[in-house]
Amino acid sequence: MKSNATILEINKKAILHNLAYFKNKLDKKTKILVVVKAFAYGSDAKIISKISQNQKVDYLAVAYTEEGIALRNAGIHLPILVLHPQIQNFELLIEKCLEPNLYSFKTLQKFTKTVEKLGLEKHPIHLKFNTGLNRLGFKLNDVSEVILHVKNSNSIQLKSVFSHLSASEDLNEKIFTEQQITSFKKIKKSFEQAFEVKPLFHLLNTSGIVNYPKAQFDMVRLGIGLYGFANEEKITRKLKNVLTLKSVISQIHIVEKGETIGYNRAYKTENTTKTATIPIGHADGISRQLGKEIGYVTIQNKKAFIIGNVCMDMLMVDVTDINCKEGDEVIVFNSQEKIIEMAKKINTIPYELLTMISQRVKRLVV
Ligand SMILES: *Cc1c(COP(=O)(O)O)cnc(C)c1O
Repeated sequence: MKSNATILEINKKAILHNLAYFKNKLDKKTKILVVVKAFAYGSDAKIISKISQNQKVDYLAVAYTEEGIALRNAGIHLPILVLHPQIQNFELLIEKCLEPNLYSFKTLQKFTKTVEKLGLEKHPIHLKFNTGLNRLGFKLNDVSEVILHVKNSNSIQLKSVFSHLSASEDLNEKIFTEQQITSFKKIKKSFEQAFEVKPLFHLLNTSGIVNYPKAQFDMVRLGIGLYGFANEEKITRKLKNVLTLKSVISQIHIVEKGETIGYNRAYKTENTTKTATIPIGHADGISRQLGKEIGYVTIQNKKAFIIGNVCMDMLMVDVTDINCKEGDEVIVFNSQEKIIEMAKKINTIPYELLTMISQRVKRLVV
């Protein structure tokens, strides 16, 4: 679609393709949780959640309570796991029917008390165990005490027990990952012995689904894969690109030899140079590290390198050899390859590049 602004297009067909790809990889009975934290990896959490809901995905997950509230306010009724709820938000979380990950005795006790205080009971909760990532979670040694606490409390209802792999994308770490899987199986066994109504068990993120499908248990947590990335080229090629970032040429300049372009006079023309100014800058998520001819956009299917420094709201590209005019479409990225290439240029990964796209950029489903 042609437009007069910077737009992040979200390709619904590509999402459906990617979801189907992972569904086909999994056992029929394995449930799918779609991770929509951080504005659904920089796309649009409401849009992705609505699509997921229509596709009968089983669960959603966000990082923080506020993210879950925004989804409830948008009419999302799927169960929502809040991966990193904070104690001060517990009341709000309960009011909005969100389900906390409780990862320590402190959060477990505080949550139980909050439910009691509100005169409620059996609020759904999830328990996270630390099997090696050392980020959030109970220790393996905590299992029996956790079970005791959960069994003795009428205010909570255990929906799932989960853990997270440290290096599911890295087959050099296979031994460590297998150890994590073994630890998780032990935890699972203890819970199964203790509870008549079994909670769901889940461990795998996108790369886990790709590399350790045997450890899919009852549910998987699909994040980056939905957006077309599997952290592995072979699989990424089977997925479709979801996000296209495009803009337009606001102004064309013919700059004489010996002049400079942009802040700090960072680019000096060696010849007469035709430049295009594009309304997207570092405040929109285009890293300043992509300036000085490191990064490029595509205009009329040709590469136009960023010259000088990226400004907050704009950047300038060299279009000397491109037959283009003001109002022409500019593609910042429209493929997984380009996203990966851009991420590499700024020493990061697609996860960060995508989540850097600021909320100022309009989102559009196509
Ligand atoms: C972000 C996250 C995921 C999703 O990971 P991907 O690699 O994007 O699939 C899964 N589980 C937890 C706990 C997460 O924080």
